[in-house]
Amino acid sequence: MKSRELSRVGIVGAGQLGRMMALAGYPLGLHSVFLDRGKDSPGAQVAETLIGGLEDPELLGELAARSDVLTFDWENISGKALAPLSGSIAIRPPAAALEIAQDRLHEKALFTRLKIPVTPHRAVDDLAGLRDATRLLGFPGVLKTRRLGYDGKGQFVLRGAADVELAWDLLGAPGLVYEKFLRFSREVSIVGARSQEGRIVSYPLTANTHAGGVLRYSVAPYVNAKLERLANTYLRRVLKELAYVGVAAIEFFVVGGRLIANEMAPRVHNSGHWTIEGAVTSQFENHMRAICDLPLGSTRPTGHSAMINFLGNLPDRRRLLAIEGLAYHDYGKEPRAGRKVGHCTIQRARAADRDKALAATLKLIEWT
Ligand code: AMP
Repeated sequence: MKSRELSRVGIVGAGQLGRMMALAGYPLGLHSVFLDRGKDSPGAQVAETLIGGLEDPELLGELAARSDVLTFDWENISGKALAPLSGSIAIRPPAAALEIAQDRLHEKALFTRLKIPVTPHRAVDDLAGLRDATRLLGFPGVLKTRRLGYDGKGQFVLRGAADVELAWDLLGAPGLVYEKFLRFSREVSIVGARSQEGRIVSYPLTANTHAGGVLRYSVAPYVNAKLERLANTYLRRVLKELAYVGVAAIEFFVVGGRLIANEMAPRVHNSGHWTIEGAVTSQFENHMRAICDLPLGSTRPTGHSAMINFLGNLPDRRRLLAIEGLAYHDYGKEPRAGRKVGHCTIQRARAADRDKALAATLKLIEWT
């Protein structure tokens, strides 16, 4: 595989992450083909797309036949669906990494094995188990589905014993995890890339503001040398352990000056979108470089950046573009409440100026 040029990338899922990967690939001569259910999906607007189910064996086979390497916009594809392809095409990141990240409990077990602190938690499979977990860990706590939860979906915050039955009524099914609700001072994330030869690069630490479980905005670099070193050490442990190839992210809670891992994403990450304009090489380009065996690019920030998500609707383009140095990203999606439909990035030479510009821009954005 080493000597062969990898330049055709098959991407499973054609959401905005895939779209930004494909766009980053073009200047490098990398061509993407997607597999997605929708013919109007964000990725399908910029590259050829096979239309159908993401785990359809025939379509996955066709995607593999037309590609030199397979990668993912959607990380929930099962190892079983990928198994027939292993051996015939490079799958990056490896299916085993996807499988661990698909299950919050497996993910926490991996973190624990690698001596990365996690939120106190218990697996819950029935109402009695939920009662036991709340007795052990107390309130408040968060009940989450182990699989297929994202952006706060499949989660319920329990404030006291009176919420136990309600939480069970809403989410009740085997395959849950109850976590202690942490009073964190901040949420941060680290995004980095690993090459096939094991070289690892990472971006500066990013501070993230969520509401209702959904990322609203990020600022980077979040300057804290101690936490950044720690986040880097943890990311390196995970990437090495998984023999990872490509970009990945880990989200942390900062509690009492310590990092508590919340979850990992085996893919490019929303908190790394600022790198398109704010770093020498974007996370999307570095993902494409990593999976195509090209040298990884510099992750050095080129200033102080803020990225704001557009949720539910796109803000007025004309007003936003009038802001000095603002980069506007429309994902080409239909507006729908809570949906990530685009983002913008602003960059300034000084952190204080970035913060002022962020505050002014936030006034023009309405999340619905
Ligand atoms: P997740 O889907 O696990 O990334 O959760 C989405 C967001 O919900 C996080 O970024 C936090 O803002 C919040 N959250 C999730 N779990 C916890 C927890 N155990 N304690 C406090 N906040 C949490």
